Formats: sequence, C-alpha cells, structure tokens
Amino acid sequence: MTSLKCLRFLRDQSESPDVVSYLASYLFKMQPGPLQLARNIAAALLRTTRRAITGQPVLVTDEVAAARRQVCQKGCQFYRPSDSRCAHPNCGCFLAGKLLSKWKLITEQCPLKKWPV
Ligand code: SF4
Repeated sequence: MTSLKCLRFLRDQSESPDVVSYLASYLFKMQPGPLQLARNIAAALLRTTRRAITGQPVLVTDEVAAARRQVCQKGCQFYRPSDSRCAHPNCGCFLAGKLLSKWKLITEQCPLKKWPV
C-alpha cells in the first residue's frame, strides 16, 4: 500500500484527525526522491522561463506570496520548516529559497490546491 493510500485508509478509519495529521507529517518526511525532485524543479524553471521569454510576468505580488506562505506555515502537514520546503510527494520544492521560491512564482501551484491564487 502506498503512503497516500495508507493515509486515506487511516483517515477513513480514524475518528481523530490529529492522528492522521501526525502520521502524515511523519510519513511525508519522505519527500520525492532526488530524480523526481530534479524533474519538478526543471519543469518549474521551464514554465517560468517560457513566461519570461514571452514578456509575461513571472512573479506574484508580495501580498499573494504572503497569503501562500501563510497557508503553508499555518496549517499544512507537508510544510517542513527546517528548510522551508514542501514535503508533499508530488512537490518537494523550495518554498522560500533565495534563488527559487515557489511562493513567488506565478506559474506554480500547491499540489493540493490549497493556495488562494
Ligand atoms: S505547497 Fe501546499 S502541500 Fe505544500 S506545504 Fe504548502 S500548502 Fe502544503
């Protein structure tokens, strides 16, 4: 059973969302492997570069970036504060890196669609 299936099973069986939340944060210290992470980052850079080449904006406003940051930091079990990364298995991105901050890139989205914009 994959981690996600396991979590869904536990969520369906459990009456305590805290237990599921705890297990999720434990399990998802296993972010995507290095190859998948490299693919995700490369895809994000490609999307951003395409926009930049065609003269479209690549960054969101500071307000949007702050709203995204708040969603991650204030209630997501996949947020990893030690290095400000999203540990969701479909992401693994650096959310607040100096060179690459997912919160700031207009092309990027939360893998769970939790962000307002
Ligand atoms: S990007 Fe989405 S899944 Fe990842 S930490 Fe933020 S809210 Fe959670």
